Amino acid sequence: MKSKSLLAVLLFVAAASCYAQKTIIHCGNLIDGKSNEVQAQMTLVVEGNKIVSVQKGFTSPAAGEKLIDLSKKTVMPGLMDMHVHLESETNKDQNLQRFTSNEADVAFRSTVFAKRTLMAGFTTVRDLGGSGVNISLRNAINQGLVVGPRVVTAGKSIATTGGHADPTNGYRKDLMGDPGPKEGVINSPEDARQAVRQRYKDGADMIKITATGGVLSIAKDGSGPQFTDEELKAIIETAKDYGMHTAAHAHGAEGMKRAVLAGITTIEHGTKMTPEVMDLMKQKGTYYVPTITAGKFVAEKAKEPGYYHPLVVPKALEIGPQIQKTFGEAYKRGVKIAFGTDAGVFPHGENGKEFIYMVEAGMPAMEAIKSATVVPAGILGMSDKLGTLEPGKLADIVAVDDNPLKNISIMTNVTFVMKDGVVYKQ
Ligand SMILES: [Zn+2]
Repeated sequence: MKSKSLLAVLLFVAAASCYAQKTIIHCGNLIDGKSNEVQAQMTLVVEGNKIVSVQKGFTSPAAGEKLIDLSKKTVMPGLMDMHVHLESETNKDQNLQRFTSNEADVAFRSTVFAKRTLMAGFTTVRDLGGSGVNISLRNAINQGLVVGPRVVTAGKSIATTGGHADPTNGYRKDLMGDPGPKEGVINSPEDARQAVRQRYKDGADMIKITATGGVLSIAKDGSGPQFTDEELKAIIETAKDYGMHTAAHAHGAEGMKRAVLAGITTIEHGTKMTPEVMDLMKQKGTYYVPTITAGKFVAEKAKEPGYYHPLVVPKALEIGPQIQKTFGEAYKRGVKIAFGTDAGVFPHGENGKEFIYMVEAGMPAMEAIKSATVVPAGILGMSDKLGTLEPGKLADIVAVDDNPLKNISIMTNVTFVMKDGVVYKQ
């Protein structure tokens, strides 16, 4: 009996290793996400969906092994954007679309945005809020039905009544109704707990809150605090109970400060971040996700008559242009930075522009790349699987045609994409 079952195991192992064909990838330059050096002429060996070894020089493929020649390219870990909205994309009719789009319309569009994001080299994204279709999108991608990045989603953001993510802002009174915790609108610590538990039940991976006013909501205030300390504490504590991390949209310093003190994981936008808030973030280990690209885009579009609602225009003009400067100051002061763009506020697939703006503001290119690879893997609790090119990690691998340390704009033109061992772009 014993030898029979041993034989069965051996046969199974042999079959499994036959099945997982090895792929040899020759990398002209390699940025592995760990070292600060670019390593010339390296080979990555991928088996199934995993990296099995990283070797110096160009190793020749053995019989039956596949070769991918990236010997003229710079290869790096799959990029990660910590702030996207895959359900929607900017256009001047966005407010009207809230009334004319069915869930299926949102879903179909989201598949296009997801594909574009992956093709731009972003193999993992954090979706920071939509209607909840983003949860189904994540599932469809995981099932291999839709082409897109690995999605970690907040489902629907949590707001307060009239707050930045109250879904009925700007509606006619009889349509406004009174959305509650189920819809992600809370007005007490009890509501807050219910809203988090509902997100968990809906299948969200993490929690997003709108800690202050925001630019694109049909509401006057763009930066004041919108949650009490008690509400924030209830949200963050409950999220922790369910193993979820938390992100706070925040433009004004008071709302940021409250969220940081309550233990939020990441601050999004951070526009009016003061030195006091920066020091508090350093002390608490809070990450800053800048979204410079979105800031620049809304400030530019606000000049185009009729593109945004009249309540949005002055907010976009005021807040948009400030983010890059704030980012530069926060970086220099030592705040932990994670790459995030707010794609959807600007066209999906242009996420790579953020690298140019980060470097412009004073962050070295290698650090900007790390902020989009090894750093976000830590935020998502996936450091054992993602973020670096090392044996045992998932084969999320991208490449560009030039050395990004000398030419950061090349990050807007990713020419090779592998996710989970599957080549999507070559
Ligand atoms: Zn956003």
